[in-house]
Amino acid sequence: MTTTIADLEAPPPEWTVVVQRLPSGTGRCLWSARQIILDDRLTAPQARCTLAHEILHARRGAVPQWQHEREESLIGQTVARTLISLESLVHALQWSTDILEVADELGVDDHTLAVRLEHLHPSEQAALNTRLADVTR
Ligand SMILES: [Zn+2]
Repeated sequence: MTTTIADLEAPPPEWTVVVQRLPSGTGRCLWSARQIILDDRLTAPQARCTLAHEILHARRGAVPQWQHEREESLIGQTVARTLISLESLVHALQWSTDILEVADELGVDDHTLAVRLEHLHPSEQAALNTRLADVTR
């Protein structure tokens, strides 16, 4: 099943999103209360990415402890791939190679951009190299 941007913008039915101060400074998913909690200090791009991350947790359900690491990795990659299309990534990288500027242009936090770049599919990497070679020559 392919995750779409719409899937990551609104929590599942009966879930609420609460903004408050969290010790982690990021986000939390409380399955028992059907609540997604976002830290009140997040910037707009951080809040967008963190909300998408927690919504995906909510949709996928809780996993046993031994699967946490794999689940985090899967969610991180899915969020990055869904929020940053190859097309928008190419455009942003043609405009700047500064990771913070590119993240800002894409409306994501720098962590999400880093995950996207780290896990590009080989075909995406090839397309990116070709398209960027055209402008940097
Ligand atoms: Zn998580």
